[in-house]
Amino acid sequence: MAAQPRVFIVSGPSGSGKTTVVEHLLRAVPDTMFSVSYTTRKPRAGEQDGREYSFVSREKFEEMIAREEFLEYADVFGNLYGTHAGVLAEAEKNKKDLVLDIDVQGARQVKAKLSGAVAVFLLPPSRQELERRLLARGQDSSEVIARRLEMARREIESYDNFDYLVVNHDLQETCTQVEAIVQVRREQCGASGAAIAGRANSFHAQAAAARRETTSERVSGILETFGSSSA
Ligand code: 5GP
Repeated sequence: MAAQPRVFIVSGPSGSGKTTVVEHLLRAVPDTMFSVSYTTRKPRAGEQDGREYSFVSREKFEEMIAREEFLEYADVFGNLYGTHAGVLAEAEKNKKDLVLDIDVQGARQVKAKLSGAVAVFLLPPSRQELERRLLARGQDSSEVIARRLEMARREIESYDNFDYLVVNHDLQETCTQVEAIVQVRREQCGASGAAIAGRANSFHAQAAAARRETTSERVSGILETFGSSSA
């Protein structure tokens, strides 16, 4: 197989802070690039084709599926989203690490295909806190918020697919902790340690604390706040 770039997946329920964390990573970690996904959803105000997403019709997306162009794709809330397989070659060519902001279905597919991909899952501290954040965002109707909360429970149940679990109590601390994970993994596989000089001890401790093996008990507590499955 051709050489692969390092791949970092950031996933988590809607309202878990993914977008901010990904923006932080791209700024703070050298030589990273964002994997711009394809989607059939309509652009929101302020979004630019080719920057947040490549916006395409469902027909075009389905043609791309038929041509097996996607590394992964999934239906999220009735829209299709996918990572084009070509981003791997592009990152490799430009000597960049790839950062993917994708849902849990996509994370599972990428992990199955690229065993070296590192997957980080962001969690809200509780259902109540996630609901408060979604309401404060003011983007969704109460019906959509109810659906997002139900979806969040199902997503959190799949935490087993992830290498690291980060509970987002404080967005700034969460950004630093995910940065620590990425920096430590880069250092472990040969990137220059210069980027973390002086912060190495703290980064190693933060990354170790987020390992799934260490945090999975806390996830059970968070899942309890979501109540039992209504499926
Ligand atoms: P939004 O429409 O709010 O930007 O994103 C909705 C969800 O789709 C988010 O959970 C986001 O992480 C996910 N998503 C974005 N791009 C992709 C992709 O290429 N593949 C998959 N599987 N999910 C994606």
